[in-house]
Amino acid sequence: MAFDVEQARADFPILSRQVNGKPLVYLDSAASAQKPRAVIEAMSRAMEHSYANVHRGLHTLANETTDAYEAARRAVARFVNAGEGEIVFTKGGTEAINLVAAGLGAAMAPGDEVVLTEMEHHANIVPWHFLRERRGVVLKFAPVTDDGRLDLEGLQALIGPRTKVVALTHMSNVLGTINPVAEVIEAAHAAGAKVLLDGCQAIVHQAVDVKALDVDFYVFSGHKLYGPTGIGILYGKAAELAALPPYQGGGEMIGEVALEKITYADPPHRFEAGTPPILEAIGLGAAIEWLNGLDRAAIAAHEARLYARVREGLAGANWLKVIGEAPGKGAILSFTVDGAHAHDVAQILDRYGVAVRAGTHCAEPLMRRFGVTSSARASFALYNTEGEADAFVDALTRTQAFFA
Ligand code: PLP
Repeated sequence: MAFDVEQARADFPILSRQVNGKPLVYLDSAASAQKPRAVIEAMSRAMEHSYANVHRGLHTLANETTDAYEAARRAVARFVNAGEGEIVFTKGGTEAINLVAAGLGAAMAPGDEVVLTEMEHHANIVPWHFLRERRGVVLKFAPVTDDGRLDLEGLQALIGPRTKVVALTHMSNVLGTINPVAEVIEAAHAAGAKVLLDGCQAIVHQAVDVKALDVDFYVFSGHKLYGPTGIGILYGKAAELAALPPYQGGGEMIGEVALEKITYADPPHRFEAGTPPILEAIGLGAAIEWLNGLDRAAIAAHEARLYARVREGLAGANWLKVIGEAPGKGAILSFTVDGAHAHDVAQILDRYGVAVRAGTHCAEPLMRRFGVTSSARASFALYNTEGEADAFVDALTRTQAFFA
């Protein structure tokens, strides 16, 4: 199978709009990706045709909606090669990490250690800080090299007998670095520690097989994967989920409730208290089925070509500093422009119809590591074209001229 970007673009209604009188060039997909018609229609269809609450009804609409919700779970499970019972729907990647941190943390004692890296998103830092504050857990951060690679030996050196968890991003949302997760998982398991991978970025750009990785927990968000907001995924090995205490209490996560005692449902429902994000799960299922119809290796090659084209276009720009040059990195360009604040760069680019992110990217420790307070970030998705890569280079060059 090959990949036809124009055909894929045609599935995204929003991409034909104009911004500030210019064709939209959307380079902020690492923050949130646009949605194909398949997702929009699946969610509308559910609301127009068959919608009710799940798991509690005895009528036709409740049964149909429950079937659609559970079919979405199966689609996610197949997508990452997990068992159906190993996929928990959450409201996002952030909630999934909080769920694991709270659950594993409940068994931690003062002095137990959690190993993270300097390139984590706040979503994979703050929940562990809660354990530091509340349980006396010690956090250790593996260093990042000047070119934006994870210092693997540095990380391995931090793993010791008190290490309970190693939690790291599979792909950095700032640097684009794809981490050597197989080596990390091996080292962590050898020390008896569990591994959580934050796959919010990686899952978008590469096939993920949680069984082949032998990872204990893998999390991601729906909205970066061309699905809706309000839905995230926690994969956990069946045995790990079974050992994890419930995160939130409420309806549908129980076995039996009495005045003096309660029992809990088995995973995954144990972790889905209350009415879950039904429409969002259906939308994510549709996004995944839509992606399944595409050649993901060809998409990865397409995105790599776009990134290379931008780098080539900006090769002579001595006013540009790129943060993150790891070999084999994904198509995320974080940069600063000499003499300009990243926010101003983003705002001027917007006048040319180019949407980029600017700020700390929820990765303040990483910003500090690279000695900047903020950066701009252009992130590429399957629907971006070579013409858009050129338009970005042109707009950025013009933007820089404001500050020269
Ligand atoms: N982890 C990474 C690497 C991310 O890029 C993001 C989102 O930017 C998150 C976690 C948090 O995801 P969400 O905000 O969808 O919960």
